[in-house]
Amino acid sequence: EVLDLAERYACPNRVRTLRALGVDLVVGAREGYRLWDLDGREFLDLHLNGGVFNLGHRNHELVATLVDALQTLDIGNHHFPSVERALLARDLVELTPGMRYAVFASGGGEAVEVALKSARRATGRRRIVSVSGAYHGHTGLALAAGDERAAASFLSEGAPGEFAHVGFDDLAAIERELASGDVAAVVLETVPATIGFPLPSPGYLAGVRDLCDAAGALYVADEVQTGLGRTGELWGVQREGVVPDVLVCGKGLSGGLYPIAAALLSERAGAWLEEDGWAHISTFGGAEVGCRVAREVLAITDHPATRGHVRGLVDRFADGLAGIRDRYPDRLVEVRQTGLVIGLRLSHPQGGMLLTKALYDRGVWAMFAGFDPSVLQVKPGLLLDAATAELALERLDDAVSSLPA
Ligand code: PMP
Repeated sequence: EVLDLAERYACPNRVRTLRALGVDLVVGAREGYRLWDLDGREFLDLHLNGGVFNLGHRNHELVATLVDALQTLDIGNHHFPSVERALLARDLVELTPGMRYAVFASGGGEAVEVALKSARRATGRRRIVSVSGAYHGHTGLALAAGDERAAASFLSEGAPGEFAHVGFDDLAAIERELASGDVAAVVLETVPATIGFPLPSPGYLAGVRDLCDAAGALYVADEVQTGLGRTGELWGVQREGVVPDVLVCGKGLSGGLYPIAAALLSERAGAWLEEDGWAHISTFGGAEVGCRVAREVLAITDHPATRGHVRGLVDRFADGLAGIRDRYPDRLVEVRQTGLVIGLRLSHPQGGMLLTKALYDRGVWAMFAGFDPSVLQVKPGLLLDAATAELALERLDDAVSSLPA
């Protein structure tokens, strides 16, 4: 009945696509890294809504913090400074190399808008370079910077010449675009999700950094999925030893309990904040209750115990997935792993979709990459216990074994 209502009134194509795949999940109860459908069937969540639930569904510490915050706070009046926003801004800036300011938003797309308009203002240039097939959100500039087909379907590509898309891992193409001298920003997901978490050549991001410096353009790192501990470092760019001009985060920032995202800006990118106090206003961006929870998320994520636990999980998944690849080399052709950002490329062109269904039948929720259905995305939780990680690997093994070669 819920599926029928959703198909009729909310998101017809999405529901039809999932139903055609045999996936009819409507989430009822949720706890830690498990979901239950309305009939009580249990699923291990290896998708986590792209990282929203990095620390688990309804993480008890975070729920307690939110409930406590709601006793005394609300969203706050965004025209005044607030204790919670000031403290979260300080924490984010202090934890993030190269950053000087934090601007809050109510979602990742809005934070990408802040990033790109900041780059335009800082450089006095308009053009944005991004990766073909990328995903930066479904708002104006973010949509235009993302996948070309998605932007074109809403006539949102921008004026001719305002947005350029290059192939992933193609430094020479970025260099060619920057040579025009009119590029404000290069915006990149640190590991692009929709095209299946491909691994860049060593030095790719450092190369982008150098090219941007030489051309006077800003490097915007979209860490909405890769940030907040998922790669083993707080931010994915830190793994590469790269300092961007702008870093965008969202999704897991308040553990899935309150919508909040942020654009962190360098001195140069955020100069407008010194000049114009009302240049970016967002009524719900930086809601105080969300900020309170976000500070706790940062504290848990950056704790040495969490980092150590993540390192163990990274090694266990690397080992377990290498075993699965070795057992079924005709089905699983490539394991793309950057910390706990994992893409499994199957030999079948629709292998990621087939594996989504095979896992669903085995009580695991993970999902194919939107623009490359040969890839399955796997995003294990940062606090996943060892026994559940084993269970996940066992079910992955069994599901991969069931695929056509
Ligand atoms: N950037 C990336 C890399 C994302 O994955 C997403 C969300 N899937 C966004 C931006 C946009 O975030 P939101 O949906 O909160 O607007």
